[in-house]
Amino acid sequence: MSTATGIGYDAHQLAEGRRLVLGGVELAHDRGLLGHSDADVLTHAIIDALLGAAGLGDIGQHFPDTDERFRDADSMVLLRTVCTVLDGAGFTIEHVDATVVAEAPKLAPHRDAIRASLARGLDVPPGHVNVKATRGEGMGFIGRGEGIAALAIATLRRPGGA
Ligand code: MG
Repeated sequence: MSTATGIGYDAHQLAEGRRLVLGGVELAHDRGLLGHSDADVLTHAIIDALLGAAGLGDIGQHFPDTDERFRDADSMVLLRTVCTVLDGAGFTIEHVDATVVAEAPKLAPHRDAIRASLARGLDVPPGHVNVKATRGEGMGFIGRGEGIAALAIATLRRPGGA
């Protein structure tokens, strides 16, 4: 079987008056992520990992933040759009692993819901998605609670891979 892997990274600023959406799940928090879309940093990192594995550029090429169509966009819709493109190009998603780096809120209570949401968005069994969480330990913009970052890696089966 021939596989391809891709890496994704994203970061968004935390701001008052915004929703906090991670992996398509809205979490209760005193601030949310600032961005042109819903700023779902985790889903954005996963989209970049998928596009990277498929050799199809990056999220900014597909969904420019200058395009009004994507203002306040639901990133899960963007994810499903990318999955449709991958499917059309003959790729199959084997696995997605991701890490959210956030000082708060605690993600452990929401991990299963986020995983299930991403599995639905990716149209894969929950066992094909993993979400981890870690903190900034007081260091840098994450540690100071100024923003949240996410990293992801995607493994795809290539078209025609036996
Ligand atoms: Mg982003």
